[in-house]
Amino acid sequence: MSTPKILILGAGYGGLLTTLQLQKKLNYNEAEITLVNKHNYHYITTWLHEPAAGTAPADHARVGLDQIIDMNKINFVKDTVQSIQPEERTVTLESGDVLSYDYLVIGLGSDPETFGIEGLKEYAFSIRSINAVRQIREHIEYMFAKYKNEPHRTDYLTFVVGGAGFTGIEFSGELADRVPELCEEFDVDPSLVKIYNIEAAPTALPGFDPELVSYAVDVLTKKGVEFLIGTAIKQCTPDGVLLADGQEIKSKTVVWAAGVRGNSIVEKSGFEVMRGRVKVDEYLRAPGYDNVFVVGDCALIFNDEGRPYPPTAQIAVQEGEALGDNLAALIRGEVMMPFKPALQGSLASLGRGEGIGMVGSKKLFGTSAALMKKASDLRYLYKIGGVGLALKKVRL
Ligand code: FAD
Ligand code: NAD
Repeated sequence: MSTPKILILGAGYGGLLTTLQLQKKLNYNEAEITLVNKHNYHYITTWLHEPAAGTAPADHARVGLDQIIDMNKINFVKDTVQSIQPEERTVTLESGDVLSYDYLVIGLGSDPETFGIEGLKEYAFSIRSINAVRQIREHIEYMFAKYKNEPHRTDYLTFVVGGAGFTGIEFSGELADRVPELCEEFDVDPSLVKIYNIEAAPTALPGFDPELVSYAVDVLTKKGVEFLIGTAIKQCTPDGVLLADGQEIKSKTVVWAAGVRGNSIVEKSGFEVMRGRVKVDEYLRAPGYDNVFVVGDCALIFNDEGRPYPPTAQIAVQEGEALGDNLAALIRGEVMMPFKPALQGSLASLGRGEGIGMVGSKKLFGTSAALMKKASDLRYLYKIGGVGLALKKVRL
C-alpha cells in the first residue's frame, strides 16, 4: 500500500497543533504530511489586539514555521487555498497547483461576521491577521498626523469599536493605553480623542459573569472608553457609523469586532455550514466525508446542553492535539477517541496590567487576571516551541 497523504490547511491553532502532534506521533515513513499556509509564519491571534493598537510590534505576534516544525518530516507549502473538492479529494491553491489527499484537515480560521451590514466590508477594519493589524496601527497614527494638518477635523480623532465581545473589549483597552502616547508624540490635546465601544446587546460581554463585566466596563471607562450599550451599528459609511437609534458617529476609523464566522472557502467548497462552520461529529469529521476533518473556528461542536461552543484558541488547540492523535491511530489501524473539550476558563486583557478572568468558579480581577493570562500565553509558547520560544516571546 502507498504511504497515506495527510493534507493540513492552515497553520493557526488548530492546523498547527494537528501538525505538531502528527510530527511527534508518526515515524517518517508512516505518512506524507503536507501543511499549506498563506504565510511562512504562525501568528498568535490571541495577541493581535496589541499590535492593532500599537502597544506591541506586529512581529512579536508571529513565529516562523521553520522554528517550530520539523521541515524534514512535514512538507510545508506557502500558498493560499482557493477551493476544496472533497469528491475528488483535491485542494486547489492560488498558484494553480492542485494537491491530492487521503485525509484532509481544514483549519482555515474565520472571517469577520458582518451580518450583511452595509458598508462594513468596504470601510471597516478587522483584527484578523498580522497584515490586517499593521494596517490598523498605521491608520491610527496617520489619523493623528492628518488631524495636525486639519485641526477642525476632530472625526480623525474619533475611534469606533463595533462590538463589546472579548475582541472589542481587549482592543478598546489597548487603544486607550496607546492614546496618551500618541497625544504626546503628535502634540494633541487628549480631551479631543474619543473611543466609542458600541454594543448591540443589553450588556458588554453578553453571557459573561456580571461582576466581571462591570469591573471591565469600569476599568475601560476610567481609561477613557465611552460605551454605547444596547445600540446596534446598522451601517458603516466612509464618514463613520449610523446606529439603530438614529445617531451618527463621525469617524474615519471603525474597527469591527462583532463576531466571526467560519472561513468562506469551506462554504464555497460545498460543505454544509452554520455561520460558515461545519457541524462535525465526535471525531471532528465533516458530515458525509470520513476522510475530511475540521478544526478551530471552521468547526462547530456542541456541549451536552446542545449549545454551540464559542470559537476559541483554547478549543482549537485541544482539537488539533486530539485530531493529531486520531489521525495517527487511523493510519495505524487503531481506534480513534471521541473529542470533548476540557474548558479551562476565560481570561481577557483590559490593557496593560489589567484583566478579568473566570477560572473554574474563581473570578479573577486586575493584575491577577493579567498575570494568569501571561501564564497561559507561556504555556502555549512552551507547547509549540519549547522553553526557547517561551523565553523569547513572553512579555512581562
Ligand atoms: P487561526 O488561528 O485564525 O488560523 C488560521 C490559519 O489559516 C492562519 O494561519 C491563516 O493565515 C491561515 N489561512 C487562512 N486562510 C487561508 C487560505 N485561504 N489559504 C492558506 N492559509 C489560510 N481565543 C482564546 O481561546 N483565548 C484568547 O485569549 C483569545 N484572544 C483573542 C484575541 C483576539 C484579538 C482575537 C481576534 C481572537 C482571540 N481568540 C482567543 C479567538 C482565537 O484567536 C481563535 O478562536 C483561534 O485563532 C482559532 O484558531 P484557528 O486555528 O481556527 O484559526
Ligand atoms: P463575539 O461574537 O464574542 O462578540 C461580538 C459582540 O458584538 C457581541 O457582544 C454582539 O452582541 C456584538 N454585536 C453584534 N452585532 C453588532 C452590531 N451590529 N452592533 C454592535 N454590536 C454588535 O465576537 P468576538 O469578540 O470577536 O470573539 C470571537 C470569538 O473569539 C469568541 O468565541 C470569543 O470568546 C473569542 N475571543 C476570546 C478572547 C479571550 O478569551 N480573551 C478574546 C477575543 C476573542
